[in-house]
Amino acid sequence: MNKDLGRKIRDLTIELTGIRSVVGTREENNVVERIYEKFTNMKYFKENPNMVRFVHVKDDPFNRKSVLAIVKGKKGNSKKTVVLIGHTDTVGISDYGIIGEYATKPLELKDKLKTLSLPEEALKDLESGKYLFGRGIFDMKCGTSTLITMMEAFSDDVENLEGNLVFAAVCDEEGNSGGMLNVVPELVKLMKEEGFEYQALIDTDYMAPRYEGDNSRYIYVGTVGKIMPSFYIVGSEAHGGDPFRGIDPNHISSAILEEIDFNMKYADEAEGEVTVPPISLRQQDLKPEYSVQTARTSYLYFNFGTHSSTPDEILKKVKEGAKLAFQKVIDALNVEYEKYCKANNFPFEKLPWKARVMSYEELYNKVKEEKGEELDKALNELSEKLLKDENVDERVYALKTVETVHSMWSDKDPVVIAYFSPPYYPHIYVKGETELEKKLLDVVNKVITNAESKYDIKMKKFYPYISDLSYGAAPREANAIQSLKNNMPGFGVKYDLPLEDMQTLNLPVVNIGPFGKDAHKYTERLEEDYSFNVAPKLVYETIVNLLK
Ligand SMILES: [Zn+2]
Repeated sequence: MNKDLGRKIRDLTIELTGIRSVVGTREENNVVERIYEKFTNMKYFKENPNMVRFVHVKDDPFNRKSVLAIVKGKKGNSKKTVVLIGHTDTVGISDYGIIGEYATKPLELKDKLKTLSLPEEALKDLESGKYLFGRGIFDMKCGTSTLITMMEAFSDDVENLEGNLVFAAVCDEEGNSGGMLNVVPELVKLMKEEGFEYQALIDTDYMAPRYEGDNSRYIYVGTVGKIMPSFYIVGSEAHGGDPFRGIDPNHISSAILEEIDFNMKYADEAEGEVTVPPISLRQQDLKPEYSVQTARTSYLYFNFGTHSSTPDEILKKVKEGAKLAFQKVIDALNVEYEKYCKANNFPFEKLPWKARVMSYEELYNKVKEEKGEELDKALNELSEKLLKDENVDERVYALKTVETVHSMWSDKDPVVIAYFSPPYYPHIYVKGETELEKKLLDVVNKVITNAESKYDIKMKKFYPYISDLSYGAAPREANAIQSLKNNMPGFGVKYDLPLEDMQTLNLPVVNIGPFGKDAHKYTERLEEDYSFNVAPKLVYETIVNLLK
């Protein structure tokens, strides 16, 4: 690898950071268009203009797009191909407050940051002179610049390149992954048209310390997944002055929160690597007005990380958890009710409640039995209405669907319905079972061994931050996908994933990122030496070895 590649990557990183591209805005296209222009100015792409193109996000209100570039090696006739991805958007800049206009100007930002009171570690790093600060510089303009520079280097020497490269600069990664989800079908198309034999999917998103004082550098083979177990809770309403006649859905909801939130029992493990525990992202009752009547329904959902469990396994686990929570509420109510009766000299009789938890699929089937076609007709009408309403997001769409199905059921007793809210990011566990998985693991091990670096570089199995890497594959167990589809209301209508294409790709994935700290904070920063001089070499060596 050429020595001044590091300098080139640094220049491009600063240039691309300077083009603001906050996710979910029209300005995302500015950086995408600059990247396209960079490619069209490269010698190889001047000679092969059809090798670079835009991939538009379907039905996007901002008309956003990604860039897809292909380099075909001229040495031999190898069909081996490595896929590279880097995202072009960033999170917003409001966290920079009054120095917001410098958020994307790394060279000027340093002086501006000195006027603020920074956290101790950020201040130390700022004063060390070893870091560049800026919105998106770490997540992930540096990584994307690395891949663009790499593409240029390989394309300049295409005579000696045996194999091919496909690079996608994808938009909307920090939002709904519209970039990657539209690139995936293109990758499948290329595979069929060109006969490309994809070896692996490489991302260069950020890599940060995993704990206070962690000074290791990580290459992650595989990635964490994310799913959102959700609960629609039907209680029984009561007057506030006579509460034991009802069962409060907020009470059940809180018990479910208490059972699942931050509980390591629900963290997912593989090969000694464990996800963070679930955390609630919403909890509210669904009574619109104030009155002295208790709510009848409520809902809550969790962010749930995965390393190995499939959607059907997770559903089973959280259903058991919800049932436990529900029973606890009933037991507690009986204890309190008995105290209340004793205190007032009333006769005590056990409360009538039964802990019931069912999946959305089970609920749907029950109501379908009763109502037949009428149910689907009602759901179609609801869907039409909801799709027109811009204020209804994917999560509300799912909730309204569950609510409607339940409302058509003859059984009005308290119950908890477990389902999934979008989005869904499959984990990718590179076990080493298939040829490609074995190859990627061998290559990364070899690259680390040969790195001869002053840094402590380690391989780990799961990239810990949700990313587009998840869309390089999908679970192949029939049950997993079926359970997801049947329990995520609105799947295929309001929310969609190219699951078949993801299964076709079925790629082992790896993240080889630059090093820095505080992604998504105003102290976001990139450590220069490792990021510009070491990580790109690791990416380069990984590509070369994968193409062998
Ligand atoms: Zn990122």
